[in-house]
Amino acid sequence: MTAAHPAAAPAGLSPALTGRVVLWSVVALNVLIVETVFLTADPAKNAVLGFGKWLGLHLALVMILQLVLVARIGWLDRRIGMDRLTSWHRWTGFTLFWLVLLHPTFVLLGYAGEYNSTPLKEFKTLSGQLPVLLGMLAAGIVLVAAGLSVRVARRRLSYEAWHTVHLLLYVAIVFALIHQLTEVSTFTSSPLAEAYWWALWVFALGSLVVGRIVLPLVRNARHQFRVAAVVPEADNVVSVYVTGKHLDKLPARAGQFMIWRFLGHGRWWEANPFSLSAAPDGRTLRLTAKAVGTASARLRTVPVGTRVFAEGPYGAFTALSRTKPATLLIAGGVGITPIRALLEEATGPTTVLYRAATTEQAVLLGELRNLATSRGAQLHVLTGRTGAGTPPNTPFAPENLLALVPDITDRDVYVCGPAAMTDAVLRSLRALKVPAAQVHSERFSLAS
Ligand SMILES: Cc1cc2nc3c(=O)[nH]c(=O)nc-3n(C[C@H](O)[C@H](O)[C@H](O)COP(=O)(O)OP(=O)(O)OC[C@H]3O[C@@H](n4cnc5c(N)ncnc54)[C@H](O)[C@@H]3O)c2cc1C
Repeated sequence: MTAAHPAAAPAGLSPALTGRVVLWSVVALNVLIVETVFLTADPAKNAVLGFGKWLGLHLALVMILQLVLVARIGWLDRRIGMDRLTSWHRWTGFTLFWLVLLHPTFVLLGYAGEYNSTPLKEFKTLSGQLPVLLGMLAAGIVLVAAGLSVRVARRRLSYEAWHTVHLLLYVAIVFALIHQLTEVSTFTSSPLAEAYWWALWVFALGSLVVGRIVLPLVRNARHQFRVAAVVPEADNVVSVYVTGKHLDKLPARAGQFMIWRFLGHGRWWEANPFSLSAAPDGRTLRLTAKAVGTASARLRTVPVGTRVFAEGPYGAFTALSRTKPATLLIAGGVGITPIRALLEEATGPTTVLYRAATTEQAVLLGELRNLATSRGAQLHVLTGRTGAGTPPNTPFAPENLLALVPDITDRDVYVCGPAAMTDAVLRSLRALKVPAAQVHSERFSLAS
């Protein structure tokens, strides 16, 4: 990318905090509106049924939030990051699970009380009505998807299998919409309330369609990405260079990632996220991938000229989050990819800590050294097995971090590496009292 980027965010709310404040204020405002409309609407036949309806409204509201969190809205993604947004989506998903159980339970109890029958009888009667049946089917799909998202179940499924089941949730949303159109009376009490409710749905579904379908299609038609070169970096690591048209107009930044699909090479439904391992220069994009499974291993044999369908760029692991003039970049293993790109854009005092088992295994080390020299940055390669030797090798223990970077509390710290390393670094940063707003991490996993 040719445009200059600010070295650090101006004083005031950091972009990450701004994103959070805006998102959660909008959520709070909508909760308030929904409560007001509920309280001013015609009362239900009895209190239990009323509570069931109240739960149903919140269930729909949580569904809307779920869509917004994964709609890949650029403004939110650049400030909060897709990893955090998908993690919130995951946790909100469990709220959805409980609401999906409780809403029909209270509705059935309410009707049973009203008509002096049993919840089971009411279930049989109500399931004979198509809109209610669709609501029940939607609930069933949500329960299955939530069940498969529990960590134990999720680990046993391939990413693609889990994702396919997750796609069924869109069917659940259609069923839930039909259910609401015919069953929900709260918002029909006033034309304004009704307009508000459907505007919320249009916004959520519209954002999703634009963010996940329209924008990727438009970008790929415009840029026509193609593989320009494939360069092995190590036995199990390869860099893929991608060119295309008008790449200077692609709003990509160092530290971001894209979701890549190599057309005609591998299975079309497989799309994998890889960070840009060099700052975008307006002519080429580069990703560097470690072979961990079939798709990443296959990259070594992708032919030059292969058409690429790439979604993104995404992510908040960029200089936009900077709050201080000085930076500490910490990478472990293949987590060097976004760190390498960030170093290219670094301004002000910069230190890089690169953790690898041996210097031979430290991919991109040569170019990292050159970059560090040209940008006047300090580079420390931290090798050896963690815990080995006397005293034990603990490069990211608070005292060791402080010894390497004495002014660490006055820097923005970017961390990307294996989960255990990232957790250890984040713990040490907390122990050293580095303010949370200065700590930025990228995890190579979404929705986990
Ligand atoms: C934001 C982000 C940036 C990344 N950047 C890099 C990078 O620069 N270099 C690098 O080597 N690796 C990177 N990864 C990891 C890389 O995406 C996975 O190693 C790769 O997708 C594995 O695919 P596979 O089919 O080879 O292996 P599999 O065995 O199929 O997958 C291994 C694991 O990778 C994850 N994964 C697979 N496909 C996807 C997907 N479509 N979306 C999310 N997660 C998926 C799942 O957790 C899965 O269990 C990044 C991951 C994320 C989320």
